[in-house]
Amino acid sequence: MGKHARKLTEKELHDLAVLREEGFFLDVEPKLLDVSGGAIVVLCGDGDQALDQMKYIERVCRPRPHLHAINGGPLLMNRKCPDPAGREKGNMLFEEIRESRELKEIDTVVLIAHVPCGKADAWGLDVITIVDWIVGVKDEIKDEINHGLRVRCKLHVDWTGAEEDKRTYFLSGKKWREFRRMQLVRPQ
Ligand SMILES: [Zn+2]
Repeated sequence: MGKHARKLTEKELHDLAVLREEGFFLDVEPKLLDVSGGAIVVLCGDGDQALDQMKYIERVCRPRPHLHAINGGPLLMNRKCPDPAGREKGNMLFEEIRESRELKEIDTVVLIAHVPCGKADAWGLDVITIVDWIVGVKDEIKDEINHGLRVRCKLHVDWTGAEEDKRTYFLSGKKWREFRRMQLVRPQ
């Protein structure tokens, strides 16, 4: 039968609800991304979530989704990744994006993180940290590869385990960075 995706905890459901209320992730794309030239997609290929993620990719990243599916997906690319083997795979993903860009002349990158994720669990990452890491990766890609690249962050959520309760959200990097700055100046 295999090991299936676990259910989200009460704490995770609460954190996600707060993030959603505060507008850090949106049910609909703020403006339709022009991906007519293609989209380099980095995701965790989780077998319990892949079909739903593919439906999203088919809708939002058509007609040329260029896929890089690997356990942990874009989280591997964050420099804070505690696992040396993970960081090595992350470096490989930076190379893969560079190569895909050259091979296919695609200037848009779509990063899809997801919860619950087995790799995030293995590294002890909570929902807030996952969001923080993926926004960090967006900045790192722009710094390391090219400032002209467009990078979009997404969060796929399996709310209950039922196929109809799975959603992929647009993650606002701008809003998240503002929030982090406010946190930094907030008195302890
Ligand atoms: Zn995963």
